[in-house]
Amino acid sequence: MSDVWRILTILEWTAGYFKQANIESARLDAELLLAHVLGKDRTALYMNFDKPLLPFELEAYKRLIQRRAKREPVAYITGTKEFWSLDFKVNKNVLIPRPETELLVQTLIELRKRKAAHPLTILDVCTGSGNIAVSLAKELPDDRILAGDISSCALEVAKENAKLHGVDKGLSFYQGDLFAAFKGSNLAGGVDFIVSNPPYIPTQELAGLAPEIDFEPRLALDGGVSGVDILKRIMQDALKLLKPGGYLVMETGISQTKALNELGSNSPKWAGFKICNDYSGLPRIALGKKG
Ligand code: GLN
Repeated sequence: MSDVWRILTILEWTAGYFKQANIESARLDAELLLAHVLGKDRTALYMNFDKPLLPFELEAYKRLIQRRAKREPVAYITGTKEFWSLDFKVNKNVLIPRPETELLVQTLIELRKRKAAHPLTILDVCTGSGNIAVSLAKELPDDRILAGDISSCALEVAKENAKLHGVDKGLSFYQGDLFAAFKGSNLAGGVDFIVSNPPYIPTQELAGLAPEIDFEPRLALDGGVSGVDILKRIMQDALKLLKPGGYLVMETGISQTKALNELGSNSPKWAGFKICNDYSGLPRIALGKKG
């Protein structure tokens, strides 16, 4: 590295270094990390390409470059990830929110609008960083939203996010394994919507995924031998909690859809059950309506 580094030259150097480390989004990551170090947004970098970095900025940036080169996700390094146009705090105790999951939020909001205007009850199971629950609470401020997670460390992050976005009044958090989290809340047959992005990756497949995934909590990803264990438990238990006409809106992976379709169409308790595709045409959401 030369002595004087300017914004443009350090970005170019870093993008090249990240490419050598097989990082796909090399230039973007270089920009996100530099913007983080400088406390600015990415557009500010573009307007200051010639600006030299101060020695302490360069030192701080170098440390982040080293972490990213070891394939730590950018979101864990910066401690934040955008979801539903909101900035969420994240750390290694929570799954990093994925853009595909926004479809879950959108689907629920559309279904919600077709129902009565009086406050409804919505459960978010496996809330993680609280991205789904907080986004819903922003959009549906009059509804009662309860969010659960097995990990109390994840719940701490979710609570922080609820506070950050000013929705900590209408949204409450519970610790426990799937629906056991809500056992004190007397909800049987009283829930209008259940939303969940549960772990659904088959255990064997975890090792073959991008190295970044190793930094994320296994608990949030591992769906058992064929990935369907937790999805199936949610489908079965949801029937006890949902009101007739209530909906389950759950994220799934492609290889789990067959098993879920069988379960959904063989149970007369579901008035309707289908798998919906995402914007890239991939099966993404299991949608069930209780009969
Ligand atoms: N609800 C969070 C998300 O959608 C976390 C999901 C999880 O931990 N499996 O990103």
